[in-house]
Amino acid sequence: MTLYDDKFSVNKPIKLGIIGGGQLGKMLAMEAKRMSMKVVILDPTLNCPASSISDKVIEGSFSDEQKIYELAKEVDLITYEIELANATALDNLERSGIQVHPSPRTLSIIQNKYRQKKFLRENNINVPDFEQVLDEDQVNKVCSEFGYPVLLKACENSYDGRGNYLIRSSNEIKTALEYFSGRECMLEKFVNFKKEISIMIARNTSGCISYFPVVENIHEEHILKTTIAPARISGDVKRKAIDLAVRTMESIKGSGIFGIEMFVGEDNEVLINEIAPRPHNSGHYTIEACSISQFEQHIRAILDYPMPQPSLESEAIMINILGPAGLTGPYVLSGIRETLALPGARIHLYGKEDTKPKRKLGHVTILISDNDPLATRDKVEQYLIVQEAK
Ligand code: AMP
Repeated sequence: MTLYDDKFSVNKPIKLGIIGGGQLGKMLAMEAKRMSMKVVILDPTLNCPASSISDKVIEGSFSDEQKIYELAKEVDLITYEIELANATALDNLERSGIQVHPSPRTLSIIQNKYRQKKFLRENNINVPDFEQVLDEDQVNKVCSEFGYPVLLKACENSYDGRGNYLIRSSNEIKTALEYFSGRECMLEKFVNFKKEISIMIARNTSGCISYFPVVENIHEEHILKTTIAPARISGDVKRKAIDLAVRTMESIKGSGIFGIEMFVGEDNEVLINEIAPRPHNSGHYTIEACSISQFEQHIRAILDYPMPQPSLESEAIMINILGPAGLTGPYVLSGIRETLALPGARIHLYGKEDTKPKRKLGHVTILISDNDPLATRDKVEQYLIVQEAK
């Protein structure tokens, strides 16, 4: 049986357009396909991870206005898995009556780190101190105001930690500015956090909000390595995190799923680090561990279907499989058998042909009961090795 919806096209399956065909697009397409929707992807690479699941891939840049209009002609509604989607083109489409979720206005706030933090601060949502910086003199001034270390962040096109430079002393300011030469930057006070946590939270087009459990994230070199569900935090910190996530959703427009990353400070203060207007790496555990996955929740949200509060069915740990340092090009992954021998383990491979340092190649989720989650992670890291393809 095919999924029909008379809000879109009568007697035809819903056609979903996704800007971006990486792993998030692939897992979203898998959920859409479970409900027999048609899926069209826009991605610069024809054999992107989502290509194996979707009906069609339009080859083109996420920022290419014409390609986005071409995509719009083929689908009933558009969503995106990447902040690099062209917000102006999407806004034009929305004005012409095409459904785009989440709202392009929200995308344009979020895709610039400075605009995003400013928006949150203006809505009285706790964020680290930050300031936009335009020249070296100002960087010197703000750094001494904040105290070292300070993070210099590129405001746009900076994800997976690639847009952060840690300035440890005034001697490093010049090098930091050269690193981001010509790009719009902001300085952010370094938060000596106890933990990093996040929440996936969704709103459907009728305005109903529901959220997933608070999880704990471990980053290495600014990139997510491990998620532990649920987060090992006190009830008080959990309540603060949920309150911040709900207040953020109430301030920001648009429907769909959002990933909200936060820091838990030494004094148990909770601050927002970043919002993602899309499914998020720290929500991958929901596929196996929750009553609804983050990908299904996104589809429900944008189609305005019911979204009951998802429940955590099992504790879980998610471990990213990242490209190792010093290896670029075709690769093989060893240790799959040993990993799958761990009770409750599932492996997701994204199908990327080439590895690059820190590239997300796949992930493992393990449903855990009485095990120590970090001991389980250590085993997976010992088993799974990315090596050059001979
Ligand atoms: P971002 O790409 O800005 O989300 O940063 C990636 C990672 O860098 C975060 O998950 C943190 O581990 C670290 N980070 C970012 N901002 C700060 C901050 N203000 N203080 C301390 N660590 C940070």
